[in-house]
Amino acid sequence: MKRGLLIVISGPSGVGKDTLIKRLLELDPNLIYSVSGTTRKPRPGEKPDENYTFLTREEFERLVAKGAFLEHANYNSHLYGTFRDRVERARSEGHDVVLKIDVQGAEQVRRLVPDAVSIFVVAPSEHELQERQERRGSESAEDLASRREIAGREMKYAADYEHVVTNDDVERAVGEILRIIDAARQRVP
Ligand code: 5GP
Repeated sequence: MKRGLLIVISGPSGVGKDTLIKRLLELDPNLIYSVSGTTRKPRPGEKPDENYTFLTREEFERLVAKGAFLEHANYNSHLYGTFRDRVERARSEGHDVVLKIDVQGAEQVRRLVPDAVSIFVVAPSEHELQERQERRGSESAEDLASRREIAGREMKYAADYEHVVTNDDVERAVGEILRIIDAARQRVP
């Protein structure tokens, strides 16, 4: 069986990565989302092992020591990591695996998996991004401020990605990402 692709999606907080990924999975049944581990607390409505596997810092660090993460990073004072076994299992079953990870994680994945497809999602404008962040309303004012500061820094990494997609309209952006994935499928021998 043909081994699945690894697709890395990054972008500033609030740009709409979750919505895009949800729609991608609806439209392409071969895609699988790899649920990450995190030490951050669940947001209202977030489900364990669906949005994230929620871990204590001790649990997370034990998993790091065991080599359980393909990559891991500290984002806004919380730890996030991609489970190596989840990615491996899905890829060996022929599924293309989507990772939603920050720029530090993406850098690690690019080093480990040079043929990973990397996509950086941007908002149509700075103003629109700020509005989306406020609309989400799930973060405290302090958290929002630090996420904005991180987003400013992260934008500088867009050039390291193979593709930059503007999330101006969900269906259009998803269509563009599906075409990128299709092209990558053709490229794999
Ligand atoms: P949030 O707290 O908004 O869900 O995620 C914060 C940031 O962590 C986002 O940039 C998201 O892409 C990133 N992130 C989520 N899971 C992982 C992961 O497994 N590894 C890394 N490096 N970043 C992650």
